[in-house]
Amino acid sequence: MRKIKATLAGLLMILLAGLATYAIDNEIKQGAAHFLDEHAEEFASISDTIWSYAELGFQEFKSSEALAKILKIYGFDVKLGVAGMPTAIVASWGSGHPAIGFLGEYDALHELSQKPLSHKEPVLEGAPGHGCGHNILGVTGVLGAIALKNAMEKHGLKGTVKFFGCPAEEAGSGKIFMVAGGLFDGLDAVLDNHPGSSLSTSYGTNSSALISVKVTYSGKTSHAGGAPWLGISALDAANIMGTAVEYLREHIHYSARIHYVILEGGGWANVVPDKVVVQAMVRGSDDRLLNTYQKFLNCVKAGAIATGCTYKVEILEASHQIHANEALARLLYENMKTVGLPEWTNEEQQFAKEIQKNVGSDPIGLPDEIKLTPPPAVFTGGGSSDTGDVSVVAPFVSLTTPCNVKGIGGHNWGIVATGGTGIAHKGLIAGAKILAFTGVDVLTMPEELEKIRAEFGKMILRYPYVSYVPEDFKPVLDMFKEEMARWRPLMEPYYIEQR
Ligand SMILES: [Zn+2]
Repeated sequence: MRKIKATLAGLLMILLAGLATYAIDNEIKQGAAHFLDEHAEEFASISDTIWSYAELGFQEFKSSEALAKILKIYGFDVKLGVAGMPTAIVASWGSGHPAIGFLGEYDALHELSQKPLSHKEPVLEGAPGHGCGHNILGVTGVLGAIALKNAMEKHGLKGTVKFFGCPAEEAGSGKIFMVAGGLFDGLDAVLDNHPGSSLSTSYGTNSSALISVKVTYSGKTSHAGGAPWLGISALDAANIMGTAVEYLREHIHYSARIHYVILEGGGWANVVPDKVVVQAMVRGSDDRLLNTYQKFLNCVKAGAIATGCTYKVEILEASHQIHANEALARLLYENMKTVGLPEWTNEEQQFAKEIQKNVGSDPIGLPDEIKLTPPPAVFTGGGSSDTGDVSVVAPFVSLTTPCNVKGIGGHNWGIVATGGTGIAHKGLIAGAKILAFTGVDVLTMPEELEKIRAEFGKMILRYPYVSYVPEDFKPVLDMFKEEMARWRPLMEPYYIEQR
């Protein structure tokens, strides 16, 4: 009878967590799943609280504190403020190998404030919002780490579990400073996650390596009508740089990208501008990035030579391509199939379809796919992430958790809306289970760990870690300081208390 009661209680927990029932033929994983189901409400609440904080890059003081607090409660040794960044976290438990790292981010995006509703309605017009779901991302990583630690304690498994709280992913590349500081050294596996519109993962090389810079041209002012011959135009220099880049495009590899904007273009047309600031991003494969960047620098120089301006190039951020470990991705994929997609209610599907209708996209509802994506046959370019640098210092994989409505892209109000609802909570718990299960595999399947290590060893022969930033490069901690200080008191009344 007690056994029946326990089984019924277990079933009830699974139903409460809103996840499909599944068969786990592994006692350790079963325990981890039960732990997460039992604590689902408590952990989902932290995600909602961070969702309401919506702090911009390097200003995630409250969000990082909330995560540090929960890690301490569950027995981790927590360091907040590592690698020169007050909002970066390293939390550790256990010792020796295998050593498994979980990643988390928690920065928000500008001007995306939004209530958890199916139509566009900001909490506060113009305030930041979690348009990339990083409130869920951070908590999923923390939960994966806590559930794995819990399972190790219960079953006497040896090894180390670490959680890395990584600030300013959207702008500022917090991870590159943690990598340069050696914080990821010696890990046997790094398990990353990101909310998305499917349950999926990929392996091999994807995304673009990146160098982002600020170019400042300095010239000499003069009366543009009265004596233009006395002036040196910094805007002319920027225009010549741009023209040179346009000619260059034909002669760089098709996977490369160069994009730029003029941040400061002069004050008034009747004054020859003596200062113009351009921000530019050079992207490509790790094999070709530095070569393309050198050619771009020649374009910058061309603008200065032709006009007589001086110029300064400052690196803003830089990262490698992501090189995901196939052996690790295959373990993750098996666990994705075991855990399965959340069971969505009719109300949740309806909510998703209304969002899709309101952004002018097809009403196709919530995630319904489980995917393992191989690398593209031909790399044609794409976006970038600072997780790339982590992937060249430790075996790395990233799980896409099913938290978003399908087909509406990223960085918009629809993503913020869903991220504060039960839809995100279900994706979060499913994701944490998959990460914890994969951690259990790495700890208990030495032959798989051997494959992971061998593959990584081969990969770094081709892509050794060399930082793309100068040695004395520091995080730009004040990037959004003023903006966040302006919003914080206005947002405070809308903070969601942790339940
Ligand atoms: Zn993101």
